[in-house]
Amino acid sequence: MHEILRHLPAGALVLDLGCSAGSFDAAAFPFVTIRMDLEPLGASSRGTGVQADAASLPFRGRAFNAVVCNHGLEHFKRLKPALQEIGRVLKRDGALFVSVPDATTFQDRLYRWALKGGGHVNLFDKPGELAAMLACYTGLPHVATKILHASFSFLNRRNTPRPGLRRWVVFSWRCDGALAVLTAMLRFIDRHFRARTSVYGWAMYFGNVPETVELRPWTNVCVRCGQAHSPDWLAEIGAVRRRWLFFSSFACPGCGTSNFYTRYEHFLRGTG
Ligand SMILES: [Zn+2]
Repeated sequence: MHEILRHLPAGALVLDLGCSAGSFDAAAFPFVTIRMDLEPLGASSRGTGVQADAASLPFRGRAFNAVVCNHGLEHFKRLKPALQEIGRVLKRDGALFVSVPDATTFQDRLYRWALKGGGHVNLFDKPGELAAMLACYTGLPHVATKILHASFSFLNRRNTPRPGLRRWVVFSWRCDGALAVLTAMLRFIDRHFRARTSVYGWAMYFGNVPETVELRPWTNVCVRCGQAHSPDWLAEIGAVRRRWLFFSSFACPGCGTSNFYTRYEHFLRGTG
């Protein structure tokens, strides 16, 4: 989403839709961010919070320069009215970022099983059809679709809120390292057996996206906070800090958690 956000000027208005605590750090950008969710929003440094239904947005038409819907569409009970509303409030030269899970993946199946649905009422399995639907409802051209990788951070007991479900308790971990090992093992399987065990879903970009979207896989996804990082950028900022036999690790720039480090060329097979 930063391919859009980092180019917006100070006077821009951004809607972070279905975002809970916020999809990005609004304090890091000069524009105004409105966070919106159906559930009550607490105080946050990530923008002004509004509690409302995505299918009935309390904003005037053509108000927003960009809409971000990060892991949100799968939760919307009235999906098409919500998409119509996104199209209504976006400026004609605006931009839209959407990320959703692929319902066919191991990660999403496990999530829905462990959390008894986890609130996913819309299951997406055809990225082309979803992109076409979003372009149709918003009137914005589809620019790019990027494959996202999983970190299984929903199984991390250090994250909140804790669902308290028995099957989640059985499979969840308090140890970041255990989840890092699990994720690394699944990446290994994907690399060598052309599988998709560690794939999460898709990020889709529409409308005015000022820079080219990096489509190579970002497999460095934090097992604590779920942020995905470019391997090149991690190396540039010195976050890749330890080597042991054939392995490297990186300290997540978002939360400091240690994860296994992987490069593009390790996963160019078996991720499509
Ligand atoms: Zn992190």
